[in-house]
Amino acid sequence: MEIVRTVAGLRAWSRAERSKGQTIGLVPTMGALHAGHASLIEAAAGQCGRVAVSIFVNPTQFGPNEDFARYPRSWEADCRLAEAAGAQVVFAPTVEEMYPGSSGAGPGTFVDVEGLGGRLDGAATFVEVPGLSDRLDGKSRPGHFRGVATVVSKLLIACEADRAFFGQKDAAQVAVLRRMVAGLRIGTEIVVCPIVREADGLALSSRNVYLSAEERRQALVLSRAVREVERLVACGERKAEALVAAGRAVFAEESGVRVDYVELVDWGTLMPVEVVAPGALFAVAAWVGATRLIDNAVIG
Ligand code: AMP
Repeated sequence: MEIVRTVAGLRAWSRAERSKGQTIGLVPTMGALHAGHASLIEAAAGQCGRVAVSIFVNPTQFGPNEDFARYPRSWEADCRLAEAAGAQVVFAPTVEEMYPGSSGAGPGTFVDVEGLGGRLDGAATFVEVPGLSDRLDGKSRPGHFRGVATVVSKLLIACEADRAFFGQKDAAQVAVLRRMVAGLRIGTEIVVCPIVREADGLALSSRNVYLSAEERRQALVLSRAVREVERLVACGERKAEALVAAGRAVFAEESGVRVDYVELVDWGTLMPVEVVAPGALFAVAAWVGATRLIDNAVIG
């Protein structure tokens, strides 16, 4: 497996492979890879002749008081996992490579520009997806989806992939990226893969390593709330008000967990719906101690 550090290098690899008739799959990640990421890489390897995995902890999607500086990093294990899952290339650029002019900060460096934490606002060009980017996670994490849309558009432009693979785990991100790709007319198809969970239901997340044993137990309330709403829908409940109330009631059983949002929305617009319809998404976010976790289910 090859390690590529520059945008020009990634583009040259992609073009060389395409000229040999290969299709290209891209799996964007922030590293600290787990079985959820592996499932995306395996899906990409199943659908594309060549697979690139990007590993880049993107400073612009973190708020000033978020975990950019301490985000888990496990470079060697990540490379082993990526290769075993079927990647031919790991693209691991520096911050300066992705954000030219951002003061030469290396990977893992906390970039504090104008007191904005990891934002780099003074030095960067941004992609905005208005309407969606202040919904769900974007509401409690202002600027988050601007950072996501910006870095993913850079990766898609650099890689010129046929398909890019994302997890339903980050369902609001998927909505933002689908609209971004349509709006910018980027020719890469967005493929969404199912949520990979632990045996007890907890959705895999790089941030699960932050949880103490007691928090790990409390964190199960997210998947419990999602499962309860799925159960009610299967029993015929259609009203959003009742379903959201039932989800909230599950959270109320776990006093150590602070709810960020419990919402039933249309997956395309991220706007609340009144009744379950095709494309309806039940999504939750909550703070377990200092760790913010998310989960969801498509129930339409
Ligand atoms: P991250 O490294 O957290 O930015 O995630 C990179 C990609 O992996 C995103 O498309 C996520 O949605 C996806 N992902 C993260 N956790 C899971 C999971 N438990 N199951 C499936 N995909 C996931």
